[in-house]
Amino acid sequence: MIYFVGAGPGAPDLITVRGRELLRQAHTVVYAGSLVNPKLLTETPAGCQLVNSATMTLDQVVAKLSQAEGPGRTVVRLHSGDPSLYGAIREQMDALRELGLPFELVPGVSSFCAAAATLQIEYTLPEVSQTVILSRMKGRTPVPERESINSLAAHGATMVLFLSSGMLSELCACLEEGGYPPDTPAAVVYKASWPEEKIVRGTISTLPQLGAEAGINATALVVVGNCLGDDYQLSRLYAPDFSHGFRKAP
Ligand code: SAH
Repeated sequence: MIYFVGAGPGAPDLITVRGRELLRQAHTVVYAGSLVNPKLLTETPAGCQLVNSATMTLDQVVAKLSQAEGPGRTVVRLHSGDPSLYGAIREQMDALRELGLPFELVPGVSSFCAAAATLQIEYTLPEVSQTVILSRMKGRTPVPERESINSLAAHGATMVLFLSSGMLSELCACLEEGGYPPDTPAAVVYKASWPEEKIVRGTISTLPQLGAEAGINATALVVVGNCLGDDYQLSRLYAPDFSHGFRKAP
């Protein structure tokens, strides 16, 4: 069986138990070498074939997965974070379907979750924002116009931007044009959960310079919104006067 496994954000103990078990029984692991922590590969048994996909094309990856697959074989395709986000797995899954090869997905801890942990924040705060927008600046991969940063910014929701920390000035300009006040809190989290993790905190107007000073231009997330600020309302869930299925107010 072929398994697409989320490796988590970096720290080797942030893979799921299921993902680690699959690595422990793998005959072949094809891993996204640019972002997957190589320490995870030490979980694989002796003799396991390890293939770094960083230099491979889609066809080469699919060929490797299909060659490795067979009765009683465990083949792991290891992607950073959670495979469903910017993982380019759809095209791999479609190619495997075409070849009649079955596969399963194992979710992972996405870097946007690890970034919240690093920042010690809650993305969804009552009366601040109840929505998290995950998106990116357009780069070599285009983004549909209706999802431009400017138009998403108009919601004033919490935003987490992948693949955009190398374009901080453009990004922050779009956020501001879209409607966030320039003093909206913003942060960059570099390599969340890795030993070299770094945080830069500022506002939409100060972040480009602070990010540049810290030398951050890749493997980082940009978090924007008042969830990084000081003001919010207490949740209803734990309010003494609020009854729900598990607790009755006096
Ligand atoms: N599937 C992955 C995202 C892959 S796209 C996930 O769920 O996290 C690669 C981008 O993810 C990077 O450019 C960066 O924006 C972000 N990223 C991945 N790991 C990260 C980490 N540990 N810390 C901060 N950003 C990270």
